[in-house]
Amino acid sequence: MSAEPGVRPGGRGPSARIRGWVAGWDLWEVPRRLVAPVFTVELTALALMLYGLLTVQPESRDLRTVVLICVLGVVHTEIARDVERMRRRITGEELHVDLGSVWFFMAAVLLPPGYAAAVTVLVHSHIWYRAAYRRAPLYRQVFNSATMMISAFAASSLMRYVFEQQRLDLYDSRAVLVLLFGMLAFLTINSALVAGAIAVSTPNARLSQMVGVWSENLLEIATLSLGALVAVAYLTNPWLALFCLPPLLVLHRAVLVRQLEEAASLDGKTGLLNAAAWHVQAERALQRAKRRDGPPGVLVLDLDHFKAVNDTHGHLAGDRVLTAVAEVLRDEVRERDLVGRFGGEEFVVMLAGLGGRGPAELEAVAERIRRRVADLRVEIPTPDGPLTVRGLSVSVGCAVMPDGGAELRDLLEVADRALYAAKHAGRNAVRMGTTSIGRPALLPVNARADGADAAEPPALHTNAGE
Ligand code: GH3
Ligand code: MG
Ligand code: MG
Repeated sequence: MSAEPGVRPGGRGPSARIRGWVAGWDLWEVPRRLVAPVFTVELTALALMLYGLLTVQPESRDLRTVVLICVLGVVHTEIARDVERMRRRITGEELHVDLGSVWFFMAAVLLPPGYAAAVTVLVHSHIWYRAAYRRAPLYRQVFNSATMMISAFAASSLMRYVFEQQRLDLYDSRAVLVLLFGMLAFLTINSALVAGAIAVSTPNARLSQMVGVWSENLLEIATLSLGALVAVAYLTNPWLALFCLPPLLVLHRAVLVRQLEEAASLDGKTGLLNAAAWHVQAERALQRAKRRDGPPGVLVLDLDHFKAVNDTHGHLAGDRVLTAVAEVLRDEVRERDLVGRFGGEEFVVMLAGLGGRGPAELEAVAERIRRRVADLRVEIPTPDGPLTVRGLSVSVGCAVMPDGGAELRDLLEVADRALYAAKHAGRNAVRMGTTSIGRPALLPVNARADGADAAEPPALHTNAGE
């Protein structure tokens, strides 16, 4: 989406060039409803900073502190450049947190609000310029910077207010409470602004997407704590501030290792767990389920005639379909259920704690997924205009403990056989598998309405061992 499609950069006069430059902003590619909130946050940050700078006469000590924090921030960014760049490349996009918060919070503790915001924008800009994943759109960086500025401004204002009201200083033992209060304000305001932007841009966003996962928030708390410590140390002796650089680097590396682990367990195309990670986590979930969660169930799903999608629309379109199906799967199960991509166009889901109505509940989930995939319309932009892929379907095999086996391997084997029975029954179907002797091995759950491919008889298996 472009504000003025007719104007291109390099137009005739300077005003045409400026309009062209504005029209080329990445910002116009974000949903229109997000533009006003993003601008509001950015203008608020700028206004607060200017107000703070113009209304408070700085002491020379404040100016020294501004310079020193900026120098520390720059040194930190330079030392951690490679780690940080790799960290961002792995995560693909921005995290909610930024280790730069050490300096932003240190500034909030030591400086008047406007100066804290100014330090934040300077250090954050340098982080972006030197270390960040620069392919991330500029508007997002500016927005992040603005949220940090507002958080630092607010934390500084609140802490100053309490210190003045209570006639405290940082050497007082009750200062701990004020610092905690400041950290809470910083964290809450920043999370609320980011969560608000995500909620506006992605209406169905999950809570974990909006406020970040626990480990990200813990990292932010660790970073702010370091910021508080270094601020107090700085008052005793400015050189002590240097002592926080080594722990900060270790923190950086710890985050990188955790994110490498996460990246190694995900399927790059769909963001689901890959086969190896799914197995490890499903094994753990199964043991937990046996102890307390109630009987677990497994779904094995395979898209029908997926080769035809590739042959008709190309591999890129096929990839988009896989991503859309992954989204359906995630959407139709609970957050704690494990969804993985086994490879190709085959997916697997483990649902724990199904309760007394285990098989019926699992079938209901499988049936819901089957219907959602059948209704799926995948919009794919192409040079010749948007292309819609429809008419997709999926076959699903189910297995529930104990009828489907007691171990993960058994459950997968039974669900896999049920899947093949669904394929033989004409595809676009759900089948429940069982290992019980003397009972129908594959209970029909639904049959394909049009009967296509149904000529082949379903392969019935009576137990997993045959
Ligand atoms: P069936 O209903 O029997 O499952 O037929 P099918 O065409 O889905 O199954 P088949 O195993 O014959 O073909 C699977 C196809 O999936 C072939 C392969 O090109 C395609 N495929 C596997 N992985 C990917 C991928 O990552 N991206 C894309 N676009 N296609 C993939
Ligand atoms: Mg298939
Ligand atoms: Mg397949």
